[in-house]
Amino acid sequence: MKILTSIIIIIFSINTSFAQKRDFGSARVLAGNVYVLNIFVSEPGRPWSLSERKAILKKSEKAYIWLQQRANNRSVKLKFINENNNMDLVLPYIPNFGERNASNIIKDALKLSGFNNKKKFNKWINERHVADSYIVAIFANKSGRSFAPFFSSDEVEGFLVYKSYQGIQELPSTIAHEALHAFGALDLYVDPMFAKNKNKKNEQATKLWPKDIMVQVPFNINEAKIDELTAWRIGLQKNKNPKYDYFEH
Ligand SMILES: [Zn+2]
Repeated sequence: MKILTSIIIIIFSINTSFAQKRDFGSARVLAGNVYVLNIFVSEPGRPWSLSERKAILKKSEKAYIWLQQRANNRSVKLKFINENNNMDLVLPYIPNFGERNASNIIKDALKLSGFNNKKKFNKWINERHVADSYIVAIFANKSGRSFAPFFSSDEVEGFLVYKSYQGIQELPSTIAHEALHAFGALDLYVDPMFAKNKNKKNEQATKLWPKDIMVQVPFNINEAKIDELTAWRIGLQKNKNPKYDYFEH
């Protein structure tokens, strides 16, 4: 096991793209086999219906097909392995974006699914699959602003997508946008919730890469792109343009 780890580290250090060097939890480069565990959560008295869950899974399938195609267009092999917990976990309260404890949602949902830590979850996946990266996709039967928390290396990465946002059902584009965060993509849109400095950078990104999925999530996912900065951050593009430095935090 240890020998295998060193070989992988040597390969990564020869090929020094941003995505391969960054600190990560369980998703490093958008390549190879990516395992996704879909977990449905709801608040008491507001359960998901089976047809609603099916509709969400259909949307996420569209998102992953789109991501696969984007990777293939850049000659990167990518395959998603999707599994579902086949139940609706009831949480006393599902936090909204920016609220206290919002970033604990993945840990909490995994605990309720029987995985107390990353190691246990990783072992459970590896017993049945060959996975290069793994993420958790949480779907909440609630309206809210979807998000992906930032993680340290000892945590499982993932995201939370709500059923709707401002009265509109969430889209495959949103699922793809959030999944890309797990692999290191930055938000590139302008938003009053962001710091002034961040918005200044994002205004520039909007001009340079208006169709990038981190700039906007279109109704039709096929109108979105993974442009060069995002592609470089997630490991789909090896070459770095010095202008990317400007967009770092
Ligand atoms: Zn985002």
